[in-house]
Amino acid sequence: MATLAEAQSYVLGLAGLLAPIEVELADALGLVTAAEVRAGEAVPPFANTAMDGYAVRAADTVGAPVTLQVIGMLAAGAASERAVGAGEALRIMTGAPMPEGADAIVMVERTSTSDDGALVTIEVEVPVGMSVRPAGDDLEPGDVVVAEGVALTPGHLGVLASVGIERVLVRPRPRVGVLSTGDELVEGNAPLRPGQIRESNRPALLAVVAQSGFEGVDLGIARDNEPEVTAAIERAVAECDLVLTSGGVSMGDLDYVKVVLDRIGDMRWMQIDIKPAKPLAAGVVKGVPVVGLPGNPVSSMVSFELFARPLLRQMAGHHELHRAEVPALAAHDLRRARDGRIHFNRVVASLAVDGTWTVRSAGGQGSHQLAGLANANALAVLPDGEGVPAGGTVRTMLLAWP
Ligand code: AMP
Ligand code: MG
Repeated sequence: MATLAEAQSYVLGLAGLLAPIEVELADALGLVTAAEVRAGEAVPPFANTAMDGYAVRAADTVGAPVTLQVIGMLAAGAASERAVGAGEALRIMTGAPMPEGADAIVMVERTSTSDDGALVTIEVEVPVGMSVRPAGDDLEPGDVVVAEGVALTPGHLGVLASVGIERVLVRPRPRVGVLSTGDELVEGNAPLRPGQIRESNRPALLAVVAQSGFEGVDLGIARDNEPEVTAAIERAVAECDLVLTSGGVSMGDLDYVKVVLDRIGDMRWMQIDIKPAKPLAAGVVKGVPVVGLPGNPVSSMVSFELFARPLLRQMAGHHELHRAEVPALAAHDLRRARDGRIHFNRVVASLAVDGTWTVRSAGGQGSHQLAGLANANALAVLPDGEGVPAGGTVRTMLLAWP
C-alpha cells in the first residue's frame, strides 16, 4: 500500500509546466502568467485632480476665506491652455490634468461662487498637493505590474489594461480528456436493462475540470473490451494534455483499462492508504499523463481532488497546488473504524462570524453514494483511529467556497 504523500508526489512527477502561449486580456482570466509583466509607461500618465473643485496655488489659500478670480473650466480629457496665476483659480473636474501654476485642489464643497461664476470664495486653507494625484502614483515605467506565476484576477486585467498591455504570456488551460469505461453504463434517461446503471462520472468530472479552470474534452464511454478501450485512449492522448479515465482500475477480470494502459503506457498501479479512492492508476502514455480514477462515483471525484487536480494546477503554472485546509469543529461525532487508512468524509463546512469553522456530515459516506458528495462543500480528513468526537477539531479540505 502506498501512502497518500507518496502517491501524490509520484503523480506530480508525471508532468511539468505546459509551454506558454500569448492570449488577449479578454481570454486571460484565471490563467497563470508565464513571465513577469512590467509597465512601459506611468499610471496616471500626468498629475491630475482627485476631486471636482478648483485648481489653485496653495499659497493663495492662506488666511481663508479668500476670493479668487475664476479663469475658466477644465474637464477630464483636455489640457488647460492657461496657467493659474497668483490670485486665480481654475474650475476643474475629477481626472483633468493639473494646470501649470496650480499646486493644489480645493474641493467644490468648500467653495462658493459669486459675480456669475467669475469669482470663487475658498473656505479652507489647503496644503501643496491637496487632492492631486501625481504622475506615476500607481505605477512608474519599469515597475512590475504582475509577477510570474500569478493567476490573473479581474484586478490584474484592469491594471494590465491601465498600462496599455493587450496580450499576456500565460500557461494555457490544460485540455483534459474525460473517458468513462464500463458495459453497464447508460447515458441520459434511456430505460435501464437489468444490470445497467446511469453514467454519472463524466458529467461530474467534466464539471469539476471546468470549475477548476481547465478545458474538458468529452471522450464518451468505452465499453469493456480491449479494442474499444485501446482506440479511446490512443485518440485521447493524441488530442489532450492529460487524460482521466474512470473505472476499470481495480481487481475485476474485465478491467481492460489496466490491460491497455500497461500495454501502451508506462503506468503504476497503486493501492493508496485512503478511503474512498484506494485504487489509482497513473503514468504516461505516449508522453501524455494519464490518471486512471476508480469507477465508484465518489471515489473518482475524491481521487480527482487529491491527485489529478494538483497535477493539472502544476501544469497550468499555479504555485498553490492543493485545496485550502482549515481546522474545524465537529458538530457531531465523526466516528470511523481503525483500518490503516486516512478517511475523507464528505461534510458541509460553515464559517461563523467569529471565524470558527464547523463541519457536519453531508450524508451517506459510501463510495457509491453521490448524494452525500453532492451536498458536501468540504472533505474532513480523519486520520487512522476512532475518528473525531463532537466538539473535537478536524482538519478540513475546502472544496468550494463562495
Ligand atoms: P470499476 O472500477 O469499473 O469496477 O467500477 C467500480 C464501480 O463504479 C462499479 O459499481 C461501476 O458500475 C461504477 N462505475 C464505473 N464507472 C462509472 C460511471 N462512469 N458512472 C457511474 N458509475 C460508474
Ligand atoms: Mg468497470
